[in-house]
Amino acid sequence: MKYDVIIIGAGPGGIFSAFELMKLKPELKLAVFEAGSPLKNRHCPIDGKKIKSCINCKSCAIMNGFGGAGAFSDGKYNITNDFGGTLHEYIGKEQALELMRYVDEINVSHGGENTHLYTTAGSSFKKLCMQNRLKLLDASVRHLGTDINYIVLEQLYDRLKDQVDFYFRTPVRHIEVPAGGGYRIIYDEGNAECDECIVSVGRSGSKWMENICKEMDIPTMSNRVDIGVRVELPSVIFSHLTDELYESKIVYRTKKFEDSVRTFCMNPNGIVVNENTNGIVTVNGHSFEDPDKKTENTNFALLVSKHFSEPFKDSNEYGESIARLSNMLGGGVIVQRFGDLERGRRSNPTRIAECTVRPTLAATPGDLSLVLPKRILDGIIEMIYALDKIAPGTANDDTLLYGVEVKFYNMEVKLDENLMSNYPGLYIIGDGSGVTHSLSHASASGVYVARQIAKE
Ligand SMILES: Cc1cc2nc3c(=O)[nH]c(=O)nc-3n(C[C@H](O)[C@H](O)[C@H](O)COP(=O)(O)OP(=O)(O)OC[C@H]3O[C@@H](n4cnc5c(N)ncnc54)[C@H](O)[C@@H]3O)c2cc1C
Repeated sequence: MKYDVIIIGAGPGGIFSAFELMKLKPELKLAVFEAGSPLKNRHCPIDGKKIKSCINCKSCAIMNGFGGAGAFSDGKYNITNDFGGTLHEYIGKEQALELMRYVDEINVSHGGENTHLYTTAGSSFKKLCMQNRLKLLDASVRHLGTDINYIVLEQLYDRLKDQVDFYFRTPVRHIEVPAGGGYRIIYDEGNAECDECIVSVGRSGSKWMENICKEMDIPTMSNRVDIGVRVELPSVIFSHLTDELYESKIVYRTKKFEDSVRTFCMNPNGIVVNENTNGIVTVNGHSFEDPDKKTENTNFALLVSKHFSEPFKDSNEYGESIARLSNMLGGGVIVQRFGDLERGRRSNPTRIAECTVRPTLAATPGDLSLVLPKRILDGIIEMIYALDKIAPGTANDDTLLYGVEVKFYNMEVKLDENLMSNYPGLYIIGDGSGVTHSLSHASASGVYVARQIAKE
């Protein structure tokens, strides 16, 4: 059980580091340890009939396994330094973009060849947004869609499986530093050693990462948490934007508090889904390339970022507490009509049934004002009215709001410009490092460290 390089986590960060190492240094002995299952064995038990909501599986099939948290995602690879992480602060803007484009080429040549690359360059919406206190962020986005994203992952696994040893359902418990150098990783059934180790445990590995940093005395910095709702409305209301841009990242500065509220993860003709992070159920969204799976609705998140200063450091705990409150009141995710929220009343099953927007997620009708802090909710309501000016109908009474959506960010680990920790040869990448928060940035960070290792 001695490897040249061990990668912990088979999300995009881990996959792309393995892929690049295999390509540049085929002679290296590589292993990937993954807490979840192989792609083909990842099945969420929620079927909408027998099992309607999350049953807190030991290992969440949505978040863990080959493909990581992004395996069943919409597969939107945003090529930009404007959002999705701060990789460019470590490796420079040009290099970060070059790596994201390289990742795109690999995806395109592994099943994504017929997918579309959208761009905000030259879009007339920039001006329209500016005229309404909104800012459209610059990006190109490759939309793979949930189905093609799956095919790309299948093809990448086929390329990797003969050259890389995969250990599935094998969560790594500890990392040790043996006297002779290198690293020893400890898992339930044994241990394995390596010269260099790439840790890519994503958001689901955030608690584990925190513990490892404490155990090994790796410095960390607190990060932000984003809290908000997922908006669902008829797709025609946003079609002029989504047809041209697919996903528009729009930022609004509120009049009342000058807070920033932003759109996030737009899913034209998509569905709203549950997401389980460490046993807490929040909301997210998907969409499909397959025309048969498209719905009549578009969904996107509206999020407000919260940063904390001394003495409170644990921004994730703050987000978790709010999500727990919604889980306590609604048994999971709560859904409310915008009209009900504005009138200060809860939504109930009758009002949701009479709603002209058909919900794509069976959530509990309730009152989001009992869950979200006033300042956050005020910002979201203001932004809905601002969006109504560029997409009339957004502020309709029947627009559905699902809560809560929380974007947890890992504690940012202190790393050098090689994404190496204070331990030589111990790299920490992807969302687990707190540096990236997206498929493209996490994948690019994987390619980057693989190239650093290959150079040695
Ligand atoms: C529903 C959903 C939709 C999304 N949609 C998009 C999108 O369209 N575009 C976008 O850019 N981003 C999207 N994201 C975010 C994106 O998936 C992540 O940013 C990305 O997956 C991060 O990659 P990663 O490799 O850093 O971590 P992850 O993908 O989280 O992978 C980490 C892996 O490590 C494993 N692991 C954790 N701890 C251990 C351990 N101790 N031992 C062994 N293995 C461990 C986990 O099981 C997991 O498989 C979405 C996320 C979700 C949940």
